[in-house]
Amino acid sequence: MTDRLPGFNTLAIHAGAAPDKTTGARATPIYQTASFVFDDVDHAASLFGLQAFGNIYSRITNPTNAVLEERIAALEGGTAAVAVASGHAAEFLTMNALMQPGDEFIAANKLYGGSINQFNHAYKNFGWNVVWADTDDPASFERAITPRTRAIFCESIANPGGVVTDIAALSDIAKRHNIPLVVDNTMATPYLIRPFEHGADIVVHSATKFLGGHGNSIGGLVVDGGTFNWAGDDRYPTLSKPRPEYAEMVLAENFGNFAFAIAIRVLGLRDLGPALAPFNAFLILNGIETLPLRMQRHCDNALAIANHLAHHPAVAWVSYPGLETDRYHGLARRYSPLGSGAVFTIGLKGGYEAGVKLVSNLQLFSHLANIGDTRSLVIHPASTTHRQLTDPQKITAGAGPEVVRLSIGLEDPADLIEDLDAALA
Ligand SMILES: *Cc1c(COP(=O)(O)O)cnc(C)c1O
Repeated sequence: MTDRLPGFNTLAIHAGAAPDKTTGARATPIYQTASFVFDDVDHAASLFGLQAFGNIYSRITNPTNAVLEERIAALEGGTAAVAVASGHAAEFLTMNALMQPGDEFIAANKLYGGSINQFNHAYKNFGWNVVWADTDDPASFERAITPRTRAIFCESIANPGGVVTDIAALSDIAKRHNIPLVVDNTMATPYLIRPFEHGADIVVHSATKFLGGHGNSIGGLVVDGGTFNWAGDDRYPTLSKPRPEYAEMVLAENFGNFAFAIAIRVLGLRDLGPALAPFNAFLILNGIETLPLRMQRHCDNALAIANHLAHHPAVAWVSYPGLETDRYHGLARRYSPLGSGAVFTIGLKGGYEAGVKLVSNLQLFSHLANIGDTRSLVIHPASTTHRQLTDPQKITAGAGPEVVRLSIGLEDPADLIEDLDAALA
């Protein structure tokens, strides 16, 4: 092979994987083991002291998970990645590495409902304060910056659907103030958007969704872009100060452009413990092998259905950036030219009651709280995922009473349209 880098389809299948050295197994084996035998006492000591890379215990590293980590790092264009138990664990460990009690971070106000809850409530226990800014108004992020701001957080394409974030505009602001930009790339996946190319510093994923892609495993990933210089920066003591538990090692100095990933692993996973089961890593790896094929079909199906619903008499509006009339169409063409993802919202003329009726009447669509399955899914956010929010919060988050969220699967679009038409009638 030449020096040319392999393409995305090739990386999705091969990055991080090789035939198993001892058995020749071509698929990545599931290393279903809690621990790993040391070569000798010196080897054990060097592993514990972070002087050598190797496996100790599957809470910290595992060879199946390592393939998944290398693969997502390659697909996103990052320096390293860490597989964790869920998307929420990825967000939590990321913030744990960045924040001290009393610190703040700025989050886009259009986010997955679970992230809004995590930030508003669970983080209070750690003394981490979220400050909300308007996804559609990058200047609102800059206005919210204070000396305690430690991160800016957004989604690339935002849940519950239809919002495309101007990542480069947020990155410009983050860079001006020397603050890392964290992008949740769950909805887009690296097939559609690679946030590091637009100036993100850290990418997080819920691998539960399109990466795994079959609705069968919970998992999460943190990807280090290798772009942020933590060394000597007192605002980030986890990375820039000597670690007493590792013989006063300074992670930023020892590990350079993958220090953030190391911090997630040797402090986050080691001390807090949300490790990904190797079996789930195996299933997510299998999913990623067909990610480019699946994502394109997801997007094509979603566009066909969004188009159909935009002309349906019971539907007040459709929020899908793939539609030429959509307010985010310009941003979608710039950031996500291959398609606008599979998750979008519609507003029903009949309001809350019509939303509840639609989810009850659909046959082929499953009524549940998930996205990114081969199967088409539907939910009425106001009565489920977003019900804890106040009414104004629901509306800001794009989850008003008339809103129904669809996650379009890989079925024949004609069958999905027939199901929707029958349920709306
Ligand atoms: C689902 C989801 C999460 C949380 O991930 P889990 O794997 O469910 O913990 C975070 N962000 C987005 C955008 C999601 O869709």
